[in-house]
Amino acid sequence: MDRISELTEQIVERFKTSGYDVNSKEIYKRLKLLIDEFKVPEGEAVRTVTNYLMKELDVPREQLVAVESPLTKIAEIKTPGEWISLKARVVQLWDSSSPNVSQVGLIGDETGIIKFVVWSKANKPPVEEGKCYLFANVVTDSFGGRMQVNVNRNSRIEELDEDIQLPPRELEVVGALIAIQQNSGLIRRCRICNRVLTKDVCPIHGKTEAYDDLRIKGVVDDGENYYEVILNEENVRELTGIGIEEAKAIAMENLDRNSVLSELKSRLLGRYYRLKGNRGERYLIVNDIEFLNMDLEKEAGSLLGRFE
Ligand SMILES: [Zn+2]
Repeated sequence: MDRISELTEQIVERFKTSGYDVNSKEIYKRLKLLIDEFKVPEGEAVRTVTNYLMKELDVPREQLVAVESPLTKIAEIKTPGEWISLKARVVQLWDSSSPNVSQVGLIGDETGIIKFVVWSKANKPPVEEGKCYLFANVVTDSFGGRMQVNVNRNSRIEELDEDIQLPPRELEVVGALIAIQQNSGLIRRCRICNRVLTKDVCPIHGKTEAYDDLRIKGVVDDGENYYEVILNEENVRELTGIGIEEAKAIAMENLDRNSVLSELKSRLLGRYYRLKGNRGERYLIVNDIEFLNMDLEKEAGSLLGRFE
């Protein structure tokens, strides 16, 4: 049996089980047109024909026996335009800047993490960070070269009483540092809670005693994913030779603490690294980082030294 006949039979079966007789020839014709002529993905074509029949026969949606897209693992999502179902934990929610999007963020299972978008038109109750859900009948999509899943009107979100594990927290990444955020460089922290001060004010303790620290908040791109990373003073010192004392000296010399950030940006941005760290709620907290071509650089450095 060819694929379109198979799909035809599925639809006929579904309506029959729900108590309706449908014309299989007509279904076959419509499916063939959509799939072969208009290159509509199979799942989408089946859905279109099903919706057409429901309208024709005046079948209420709740009366039609549910068919669900196949359960898939996140690592298996490779092609856009497929209807799938996923069991996943909401890893984090981002602020949505578009009125068409009601929620956007990351969901994960034990095989990986993927971006998800809930369209406003989907009209779904909001999901919560940390909770696990069945995302049934969602559509795979690709945006900026990365896969994501979209929740639309035909999708169903159902909270699960399962504990879905995320991929291992320890992570090694090889990629380029493509951005460094403003609140990086020579920063000041609250003595009581260690939070970073903004304009010398702790978000909890207000005007407070503070101490200097050095850190980088940045974004690493490994060609497949973006990682928000945090480098501590030790990481920065190992990469650049600039530790807290050197940073203070730079700030003093230029009478500007921001000059440290400029210096670090010029040394670190756009270069490739191998880094190991722990995945937090949002950030990859780096334990260990090195320039990818460190050995080559060392060699070049010592050669230069010899000729100087
Ligand atoms: Zn504080």
